[in-house]
Amino acid sequence: MSKIVFFCIPAHGHTNPTIEVIRELVARGNEVVYYSFKEFKDKIESAGAKCICCDKYLPELRPEDEKKVGKDFPALIEMIVDTTLALDKKVCGDLDVFKPDCIVSDSLSFWGKLFAQKLNIPYICSTTTFAFNEHTARMMKQGLNEIMRMIFGMGRINKKIELLRKQGYDVKNFISIVNNDNDTNTIVYTSKEFQPMVETFSNKYYFVGPSVANTIVEIKERNRKRIYISLGTVNNKNIKFYKNCIKAFKDTSFDVIMSIGNSTNIKNLENIPSNFKIENSVEQIKVLQETDIFITHCGMNSINESLYYGIPMVLFPQHSEQKMVAERVEKLGAGVMLKKDKPEYIKSAVIKVINSNEYKENSKNISKSFHNAGGAKRAADVILKIIDESK
Ligand code: UDP
Repeated sequence: MSKIVFFCIPAHGHTNPTIEVIRELVARGNEVVYYSFKEFKDKIESAGAKCICCDKYLPELRPEDEKKVGKDFPALIEMIVDTTLALDKKVCGDLDVFKPDCIVSDSLSFWGKLFAQKLNIPYICSTTTFAFNEHTARMMKQGLNEIMRMIFGMGRINKKIELLRKQGYDVKNFISIVNNDNDTNTIVYTSKEFQPMVETFSNKYYFVGPSVANTIVEIKERNRKRIYISLGTVNNKNIKFYKNCIKAFKDTSFDVIMSIGNSTNIKNLENIPSNFKIENSVEQIKVLQETDIFITHCGMNSINESLYYGIPMVLFPQHSEQKMVAERVEKLGAGVMLKKDKPEYIKSAVIKVINSNEYKENSKNISKSFHNAGGAKRAADVILKIIDESK
């Protein structure tokens, strides 16, 4: 039996794929402790791990900071360092007693990596986005705003890194925090076939495919095509877009399920047509299995889940990382990019995808590569193998 500690950021997209992995590890008799947050406690504990909620250690986010998530790199680094320093005493104390065999930390939950280095514990990176290196970085076309924020934020970043060093963390520079090299064991929740520039990654990158809950829906015959719309769980406050979707499909023969997130009040959408079902949150894994087309913000999990079930997409990315994912989907012919968010553009993109078999076929081909990649079971194999090798 091994003892494994997980760390993750407070985001569903980053937590969800790890849930099935911990379920698998616990089912094989291993002990898992997961440093996460209240919102995710039930999910984590129902998979059999002990959840330690770290909410009080997170820096407070003002509403204007929330908008920056995923867009402002210096702000992200500041948040990481503040979180690491706030957690330092508690986690180092806990782990000194628990003595884990390995730390598995989300690729953005850099504090897990910093604790592993400081305490000399084997470290595995868990990547819910594409694997990232200097080659793929070039594909992420950052907007001018993002680049400017980065340049002007360097002073702030360096000050924060100095604080880490004072606390006993041997950090070279911010790149060494955020970048994984080819020597770092890394689990990536997509397939080799879907990962761009896969040849630039070493054999320490394990492309296990999506780790999706085994939720099977009994599929009923439908005579009307069904559209599912979601902008994910983070930057989903976009009432204009939701209203445009209503205008696009209100008098059509499509049925629409729209998940608008918890920050938008359904009442504010007014006059909801009878072919629409609008929720703050849905069980996406279930909904996708009964969907013909997905209009998505291109979060990596949404894309992975859609392709896992062979569902073609209309792609509406919100920032550079999502744009890179969207471009990959478009290149493999499994979806089309939304040019503008006006109703006529949304409608014509959907019709283009629905009226051609090609998008569906290409999605199904990617789906095969995902199913062959091994999912949560393979991720658990990898973690246990790495622990074995480290002993
Ligand atoms: N999700 C869900 N119900 C919803 C919307 C999203 O279960 O109504 C899940 C979805 O299945 C995925 C995650 O939330 O696992 C969203 O992750 P993604 O990486 O797509 O986007 P993010 O929310 O991180 O922007």
